[in-house]
Amino acid sequence: MAVAILSKAQGLTSGGKLKPEQAIMDVRHYTIALNVDFNQRSIDGYTTIDVIMAKPTNVLLFDLLDSLNVRKVMVNGSDQPFEYKNNLITINLTKELPAGRASVKVIYGGKPHVARHPPWDDGFIWTRDSTGHNWMAITAEGTGGKLYFPCKDHPSDEPNEGVDMIITVPKDLVVAGPGLLKSVTRHGATATYHWKTNYTINNYSIIFNAGDYKVFTRPYTTVDGNHVPIQFYVLNEHADKAEHLLDIFERTIHEQEKYFGEYPWVKEKIGIVETPHLGMEHQTMNAYGNKFRYIKVGGEDYDPLMHHEFGHEWWGNKVTAKDWADYWIHEGICSFGDDLYIREFEGEAAYNKIFQQSIFSIANKLPVVQHPDMDEEAAYIGDIYSKGAFFMHTLRYVMGDSLFFPALKKFVTSPQYTYDNLVNTDDVEQFFSKEAGRDLKPLFDLYLRTTDKLVVHIKQQPHGKYLIQLQNINIPLPIDIETDGVTKRMIADNKGFVVTSKTIPVIDPDVFYIKKIIIE
Ligand SMILES: [Zn+2]
Repeated sequence: MAVAILSKAQGLTSGGKLKPEQAIMDVRHYTIALNVDFNQRSIDGYTTIDVIMAKPTNVLLFDLLDSLNVRKVMVNGSDQPFEYKNNLITINLTKELPAGRASVKVIYGGKPHVARHPPWDDGFIWTRDSTGHNWMAITAEGTGGKLYFPCKDHPSDEPNEGVDMIITVPKDLVVAGPGLLKSVTRHGATATYHWKTNYTINNYSIIFNAGDYKVFTRPYTTVDGNHVPIQFYVLNEHADKAEHLLDIFERTIHEQEKYFGEYPWVKEKIGIVETPHLGMEHQTMNAYGNKFRYIKVGGEDYDPLMHHEFGHEWWGNKVTAKDWADYWIHEGICSFGDDLYIREFEGEAAYNKIFQQSIFSIANKLPVVQHPDMDEEAAYIGDIYSKGAFFMHTLRYVMGDSLFFPALKKFVTSPQYTYDNLVNTDDVEQFFSKEAGRDLKPLFDLYLRTTDKLVVHIKQQPHGKYLIQLQNINIPLPIDIETDGVTKRMIADNKGFVVTSKTIPVIDPDVFYIKKIIIE
C-alpha cells in the first residue's frame, strides 16, 4: 500500500506468532461464495477451505472476525461442533482427522466490519458513485482475509492452488476479482460472477469489488513475448478517462518489467479497478482510487500511486515475506522501484535528488527488521518504506550497476524466491552477497537490523592532509570524496586512506549513505 498509517482497533491486525494448531495446516485452496446485500450491507454464503494436515488432529482453527454469524461447519462433508469467539472458529472434531487432505466448509453471513479510513484501516467500503449506483470495495492488508472469510490468517501460508470467488450482486452491478472471469450467470434480479485464480495469492489480495463498471481491455506483450490482456474496470461515469489512464499504465508496466522481469501473472491478466479508496496491491486486480490525477515525469503524465501499487505485483505478490518483520522487502524495494521510474524518465540526477530529500523522512527510531513473529501494525510503524528504499539505493552504489541491476532482476525471477517460496531478509542478504562476490552481511546488519548510521571519521593531519576511516563497519565500502571541487570514488575501510585538500573534504556529496561524520 501507499505510505501513511493509522492505528487499527485492537485485534484487527494480522500475522504475529503462528498458532500451533495452524502450524500443522497447509492451506491449498479457498472457495468463497457469497451473496452481497447492499441494502443490509451484509454478506451471506459459504467458504470452503482445502487443507493438507501434516499430523492427525482433533482441533481445527480458522480466523474470522467476530462481526459475522457462523451457522454451520462441515469437515469432509460431515457436520462438526464448533465455537466462534475471539475472532476464531474452533472446530472440535467428533473424531480425529488423519494427516493429509481435508475440506472444511463454513456456512456464515452477517454484516462485515466497515472501514473508516481505507486503505489505512480495513473493512468493507459501501458507497455510491455520483450516478447513484452502489459501489463497494474491500481492503484487508492489515486485518487480513479473516475480515470476511474464514482462513489461516498468516503471511506464511498462501493457498497454493489459488482461489475461486463466486459473488452474487444485483444485476446492474459488475464484480471485479482476482484471476480470470470464468462465468457470469444471471438469475432474476441478480448476477453471479465466478472469478478464479490458479496462482498462489496472499490473503489480503483475496477480495472483490462491485460497481457500475465498464471494462476496457488492451492486448499487452510482455518483455518475454507472452500475451496477457490489460483490463481496466472503470466506473461508467469515468469511461472517457480510461484510455488515457491505460496509456500511462502501459509505460508503468514496461518500466517495471525492464527492472524486475516479466509481469508475474501472465496466464491471467493485468488488472486494475476503480475503487472508492486510494489504492492497494490486489494481485491481478489492483485497486485504483487516485481520481485520474497525474504528475508530469519526463514530460508525460504519470501516476506515482498506481506505479507503486502495481510494483507490488513483483514485491509483495510474487516475492512474499514470510513474516511481517521482513515487509521492507515489499514496501522498501517496491518504493525503490518507484524511484527507478524517475531515473528512467528524468535521469540519474533526478533520481539522486529523491534520496537527498527522502533521507530527512527517515525516523530511525526502530530497526527496519525488528524481530520475528511480528504483526502487521508493528511492522508498519518503522521505516520500511523510506529506509528500505534508501538501503536499496546504498546497495546499488556499493555493488555497482553492472552487478546490482542483474542481481535485482535475478532475485525477483528466481523460482527459489518467488510464488510458493516465501522469503525473509536473510535470503535477500545471502543472495546479494553471492551476486556481489563478497559478504554484505555487515551492511545489511548496520542498515536493516540497527538504527546506527555509518560513521565516517575524518582526522586532520599536517600539510593539508586528511585521514578518512570507516568506524562501525568491518567491510571496505566505496565512498565519494570531494576535495577542492573534484569528486573521486575511493574505497574506505577501518584503516583509512589519506587525501590532500585545502578545505575539509566533503564525504559522500551525492548522499548514497545514511551516515554520521566525525571530524577530529
Ligand atoms: Zn506499498
